[in-house]
Amino acid sequence: MSKTLFEKIIARDIPASIVYEDDQCVAFKDINPGAPVHVLLVPRKPIPRLCDATVEDQALLGHLMLTAGKVAEQLGCGDAFRLAVNNGAGAGQSVFHLHLHIIGGRPLTWPPG
Ligand code: 5GP
Repeated sequence: MSKTLFEKIIARDIPASIVYEDDQCVAFKDINPGAPVHVLLVPRKPIPRLCDATVEDQALLGHLMLTAGKVAEQLGCGDAFRLAVNNGAGAGQSVFHLHLHIIGGRPLTWPPG
């Protein structure tokens, strides 16, 4: 199986601006940011979509949520940030390796497009 784009970033095969990593996940700046803070938090495990996660991934998913808050805090927007997961092409997912968008650093409106 060929590596996903994000596996290549995690492996340092492709450069990215990494802002956080631990044994379960890596966070790096989005190449096409939609806000002053726009980071992708990616599990090392290549789950294609959120709906492909199983009960075995429960602790990992919880870890991602807690880590997202820590990363937002580290980047100065811990009090006002948004997490987004695009699940499937119809929802705008373009990279099929689960990732949380951490978006902040400007006023955020609701609902998103
Ligand atoms: P999705 O559309 O799948 O929810 O989000 C994929 C994100 O990956 C997009 O926001 C896109 O800008 C970002 N992206 C695509 N290719 C690269 C890349 O090579 N490097 C980085 N850092 N981000 C990328």
